[in-house]
Amino acid sequence: MNLFRNIQDLRQYLKQERLKAALEGKVLETGFVPTMGYLHEGHASLLREARRNNDLVVLSIFVNPIQFGPNEDFERYPRDEAKDLQLAEQEGVDAVFLPSVGEMYPAQTLTKITVSQQLTGGLCGASRPGHFDGVTTVVSKLFNIVEPERAYFGQKDAQQVAVITQMVKDLNMPVQIVPCPIRREEDGLALSSRNVYLAPAEREAALVLSRQLLHVQELINEGGTLTAGEAKETLLHAFTAEPLAEVDYVEVVRFPGLQPLGDSERIAQDGEVLVAVAVKFGSTRLIDNVILSKKGV
Ligand code: AMP
Repeated sequence: MNLFRNIQDLRQYLKQERLKAALEGKVLETGFVPTMGYLHEGHASLLREARRNNDLVVLSIFVNPIQFGPNEDFERYPRDEAKDLQLAEQEGVDAVFLPSVGEMYPAQTLTKITVSQQLTGGLCGASRPGHFDGVTTVVSKLFNIVEPERAYFGQKDAQQVAVITQMVKDLNMPVQIVPCPIRREEDGLALSSRNVYLAPAEREAALVLSRQLLHVQELINEGGTLTAGEAKETLLHAFTAEPLAEVDYVEVVRFPGLQPLGDSERIAQDGEVLVAVAVKFGSTRLIDNVILSKKGV
């Protein structure tokens, strides 16, 4: 497994690998998995999907400062490079890109990528202003550095998938965005690097998210006629009954357009509907979601 901290070195390596393949009359296809590290089974599932469908797998680990707000957890975001490299090795990653902040953002950086508020203004964008500009800017930079054929993103960050898919389409970026399902602990908690912040009682309380989302999903799959308003009410009721939970948002929107459903609109009448929640447990903000469709999930 090859490790790179400089953009130039990674580019050189990729160029050589592509040239080697070309000399053998082959096209080397690259699958890319961008992450912020502190890797878990959710990240591993993306790496496995990339491994299955590409000749070369590139993983990036970069805690991107510009996607964190001033009062967020950039400084204390968990990091464990040695453990991450072990997991990457196990998953058969070919190259890991571990740039410093200075490497990604030299002193004079005057450009950013912004996707319209129509996609970035609601859900997580409402409580984290500027967050998606940080995400789209760093992902664009990484795409330009790695030039992958495919890039893998978790549906756990459903809005991120919608925003990046739109960006790639609008800017004609030659990369296919591959969304991958949410990976969960056995008890249902969506895997997240931030779960490590949770005190035992908060972790127990946090199970309300997956339990209630599953409940809503079951109501729909059983052919129920749940409206968006009823779904939100069910979730809000359960979350507010949990003393350790502080609701940030509970939303029902179309996917991937992210237009909110009216309260009286039935879910799963046509197309896909995203039921997304963000809830704080102590100082830890967790997100979770389900995507529902007429055909079931
Ligand atoms: P992060 O390191 O949190 O920025 O996440 C890197 C990538 O892993 C993103 O595409 C996330 O959506 C994805 N990811 C994070 N948690 C999960 C999970 N539980 N299941 C599937 N993908 C995930």
